Amino acid sequence: MRKQLYKAIRIGVVLTTLIFLNTCRLLEPTEEVYRRDELLMGTVVDIQVVHSNPTKATNLLDKAFKYMKELVYMMDVHREDSEISRVNREAYIHPVEVSPELYEIISLSLQISRLTNGAFDITVGPLLKIWPIYKKSGFSLPDATQLQNALARVGWQNLYIDETHRTVHFAKENMSLDLGGIAKGYIVDKTAEFLKNQGISGALIDAGGDIYALGTAPKNKPWHIGIQHPRDGRELIAILELKDIGVVTSGDYERYVIKDGVRYTHIIDPRTGFTVRKTASVTLIGKSTAFIDAIATAIMVEGVEKGMTLVQSIPHINALIITEDQSGKLVFSYTPELLDYVNWGEFSTNRSSL
Ligand code: AMP
Ligand code: MG
Repeated sequence: MRKQLYKAIRIGVVLTTLIFLNTCRLLEPTEEVYRRDELLMGTVVDIQVVHSNPTKATNLLDKAFKYMKELVYMMDVHREDSEISRVNREAYIHPVEVSPELYEIISLSLQISRLTNGAFDITVGPLLKIWPIYKKSGFSLPDATQLQNALARVGWQNLYIDETHRTVHFAKENMSLDLGGIAKGYIVDKTAEFLKNQGISGALIDAGGDIYALGTAPKNKPWHIGIQHPRDGRELIAILELKDIGVVTSGDYERYVIKDGVRYTHIIDPRTGFTVRKTASVTLIGKSTAFIDAIATAIMVEGVEKGMTLVQSIPHINALIITEDQSGKLVFSYTPELLDYVNWGEFSTNRSSL
């Protein structure tokens, strides 16, 4: 009799504990992804944050976009009243004091110019003006005089910075900086840092292919990012699984104009003055999205052989460079560790779902 009573009490205790634990789990707020996209920097910027409270998540998305827009404005060469435009107007006349962010991105750009022997060079501004590939109609090739005039004003060696006074100075008249090859990566990094400082444990910040994966997606899962097929936008080459790392993709399919059967891209070799088209796409993975954004642009200039040598000389970055052979077949060149991030363990040209 007493034995049965003890048994009943034991079962009762176990059941109560189970009910209690389950109730706790139900009361625990569930984390979800809240996202928003906006047109910025000529592309769609998409921010996803992991949160358990919809109102707070909306608030954070507001703040993140506001912060991002301030940086975009600062670096926009198409706005006369931006900080970069002031530098372009005045830096030959006198050293111009700049904000810590502008100083940081210009200083990093100079380091990357040195590292890439000038393949990446933000003084490329005058050349971009004579290759107006953004004009979809009326595009014409620059003549030799235009090319010589522009080339004479390009060169990172003519860009001086002074860390103590935080100034930027041009050695030649009519130089102009263009941050298009690094700004998206830099702004993505800064926005990730901003969200982290707001207490966010997981976010995905994507500025048209320049992405930072902060922390994890809900349920502690890694973020999934697809690498687009360079010749078929609906197809994926691979799906990457990422956590606390950046990934960027530059492709010859992004911005170009076709004239007399030739495809001219938005990437220029600052040393020759010509637009280049050596790779179909370049994907890089690394801790600094700004850094890999600029390196990807340099690889587009240099092509696959020099590009792979460059990547292998830099610790902790991984690359997938896609080229086309003469028959139009895609050729994949990659660092072996890149496969650690690929969730199928291989590349494919016929998968289409994420
Ligand atoms: P991305 O899409 O990151 O490869 O950057 C392309 C943009 O970078 C162009 O639209 C130009 O604004 C700028 N750019 C083009 N060629 C170069 C270069 N060789 N070095 C630095 N920036 C460049
Ligand atoms: Mg770039």
